[in-house]
Amino acid sequence: MATRLSRSNLTIKLMPRFNIPLIAALVAFALCGACQSSGGDAQHSDSPAEKSTNVPDAPPAMTLAEQAREAGFDADYIMGKFNPAEHPDFVVVDQQYADRGGLYLRQEVYDAFLKMRAAAAKEGLTMTIRSATRNFDYQKGIWERKWTGARKLSSGADAAQAFPDPKARALEILKYSSMPGTSRHHWGTDLDLNAFNNAYFETGPGQQLYAWMQAHAAEYGFCQPYSPKGEERPHGYNEEKWHWSYLPTAQPLTALARESLSNGDIEGFKGADVAGEIDVVRKYVLGINPGCMP
Ligand SMILES: [Zn+2]
Repeated sequence: MATRLSRSNLTIKLMPRFNIPLIAALVAFALCGACQSSGGDAQHSDSPAEKSTNVPDAPPAMTLAEQAREAGFDADYIMGKFNPAEHPDFVVVDQQYADRGGLYLRQEVYDAFLKMRAAAAKEGLTMTIRSATRNFDYQKGIWERKWTGARKLSSGADAAQAFPDPKARALEILKYSSMPGTSRHHWGTDLDLNAFNNAYFETGPGQQLYAWMQAHAAEYGFCQPYSPKGEERPHGYNEEKWHWSYLPTAQPLTALARESLSNGDIEGFKGADVAGEIDVVRKYVLGINPGCMP
């Protein structure tokens, strides 16, 4: 009797204990534990580099030139082929900060300049903008007046008479003036301060200002692209202690110029046909203080 009952009773009594949902939960728990364990091990063996490359859909880091393109810059912008008075990113410089009206800078450059100027003013130093944005047409005017001799070089020479050879004439003008299409002044990121001669910055208030700029300009984003010529900077314009460049915008533009501007793009003015012979993009556009380079 015990035997007869035992099997059926046993079956009946055990059935509730082996209910399907409970088994499923236990199996799932066991599998999940195994999963966590192997996942944990995998995590410990992951290097940080592997982790970053394993992040799904992470956008690849953009180069500076790509950032410039993304922001809407192109070769025409780099060559100054626009009117800053009509460009939405530009503002007119208040005449109290300049030696005349009608000068333009990019808004972010102007903002940074005003902060820098205010900080210098607390030290009793004054900054006056002598030149800011100059577009292609404006630079063409400067260049061609020097090319034809209508305007004398800073040495006092008439370039057309003193340098009949076009390459020699261009190289002489290039000591201080850019070929149209190759100037950082096209970009709205660069400005000239106080005086167009290095001697001003070597005594008295000019020297004090220059010393302050060397110590503090970088805090506001500014750098002197035309540092002394020499081993560090073998090519390009002579030293200009008055010329300062706002790097947060100018560096992406320099990177874009390095990638997309060629000597053949530099055309449309008297003397342009020696641009290639001089290698004006590599030696002048990119011939800047390595400390300002992207
Ligand atoms: Zn300048």
